[in-house]
Amino acid sequence: MVEWVDLCWLLRDTFLGDSRDSWRWLGDSDGEFSVGSVKRQMDSNLDCSNRYVWEWSKWVPLKCNLFVWRAEMGKIATRIELQKRNIPIPSLSCTFCASADETADHLFTACSFASVIWAKMSSWSRTPFLVAFSVRDIIEAHRYCGLSGKGKDVYQGLVLIVCWRVWKARNDLIFSGKAPVVDDVFSEIRSLGYLWFKNRSKYKDISWDEWCKFVNM
Ligand SMILES: [Zn+2]
Repeated sequence: MVEWVDLCWLLRDTFLGDSRDSWRWLGDSDGEFSVGSVKRQMDSNLDCSNRYVWEWSKWVPLKCNLFVWRAEMGKIATRIELQKRNIPIPSLSCTFCASADETADHLFTACSFASVIWAKMSSWSRTPFLVAFSVRDIIEAHRYCGLSGKGKDVYQGLVLIVCWRVWKARNDLIFSGKAPVVDDVFSEIRSLGYLWFKNRSKYKDISWDEWCKFVNM
């Protein structure tokens, strides 16, 4: 009965007609396949797959974008991901708080260490506290942070830097026994953000004071 109910649920939007089955080409609105439509599809950036596609932050170095991209796909070496790949791990608990299993979603959202960083980030940028349950929520956060224009661009890049720097703090703790200090980590996020934004975006004239006050953004 459970399987029957599941099946009915899956088929709830499916309507069967009397016409013959046919192939439909997703690359064109009329459903007809043609070489021309393939060429148009390749020239446009249309993606018909169900892959999660997000816009990378251009002013943040590739290493941060790549890191968050891999984290979202479950491809960073958290303890849970290592266990899934049959690598023996003495403990699966979060390195920072030990209150949950170490997954990317936990490390960057629910973990008490990340939460303090997000609180600092929200008070610095004068935006609501970031409520996120997954890495994907973090990637999308700039859309809902209440900022626009330059401020939104900055926010989008900063959340990537936060994730990258939290991961570095986690590695420092595990491999070098260096306990993270939240204020130091946050200061580095802010100064690295300034260095990268000033040198890699078109806003080269931004001053450190403006950056620290998050004004004109
Ligand atoms: Zn934790």
